[in-house]
Amino acid sequence: MDFRGFVALITGSTSGIGLGIARGLAAKGASVMLNGLESSEKMSCIRTELAQEYNVEVMYVQADMLKPTDILSMIKCCENVFGHVDILVNNAGMQYVAPVETFPPDKWDAIISLGTTVPFHTIRAVLPGMRKRKWGRIINTASAHALVASPFKSAYVASKHALAGLTKSIALETARDGVTVNAIAPGYVWTSLVETQIPETMKARNLTEEEVKNDVLLAAQPTKQFVTVEQIAALVCFLASKDAASITGAILPIDGGWTAQ
Ligand code: NAD
Repeated sequence: MDFRGFVALITGSTSGIGLGIARGLAAKGASVMLNGLESSEKMSCIRTELAQEYNVEVMYVQADMLKPTDILSMIKCCENVFGHVDILVNNAGMQYVAPVETFPPDKWDAIISLGTTVPFHTIRAVLPGMRKRKWGRIINTASAHALVASPFKSAYVASKHALAGLTKSIALETARDGVTVNAIAPGYVWTSLVETQIPETMKARNLTEEEVKNDVLLAAQPTKQFVTVEQIAALVCFLASKDAASITGAILPIDGGWTAQ
């Protein structure tokens, strides 16, 4: 589908999966609002590159999703600049790997909040506009960890399972309003979020870097390949399209067969 005239807001889109999704939607003509913790100066190159490459409007708002006031001002900013939000992608997330007894409570709070409370705030802020226009797409970046667990990731697994529940519940609330609400459940994708958990996993499991990659991360993925950011962007573009109108309340694995086991 050509998304020209449609506006996409993607939280946590300064890198990795979020930036890949923004690129995918921009390539199909969507106006894009990027978000993250980086400064506007640091993001200006990416903004300009996307805007010029795809001939679309690209804005960036620096906003900390852990602050509800930042969430509201980000959405206001998007509505002021573009008029409305048609596609909301709740993608901001973080990871921390440690046994539960030594899991830092502040990391627990931040991970749980990013996975559940933040999407609650963003969704409730954009829904009135979507309902009014009788069209909307909400896509939550969950994880294979929304469906299955791994040790030492208690906060992440709990938050992604909760996000799956939130997705289903709001899908039911909006089912007759032209709004779909889905979650994608990627397996391992090679991004900074995965790269930075390697030292923690080496420590927690007493393994080498190669052992963590092959025996922990890709051990779960029957394809033995990392999922690519481009594959995820393609799935999100489909879910955002008119053809996906009957897909709602779904938690869609894109995990190289991980959760089939
Ligand atoms: P990443 O570290 O490249 O991206 C994380 C993004 O979230 C960044 O843009 C960062 O700025 C943003 N972010 C973090 N805290 C924020 C905050 N408080 N406010 C605003 N933005 C914040 O990692 P990624 O792998 O691209 O992760 C993106 C999403 O994909 C996360 O929700 C993650 O849980 C999910 N995911 C990743 C994988 C994987 O293997 N990489 C697998 C499944 C799901």
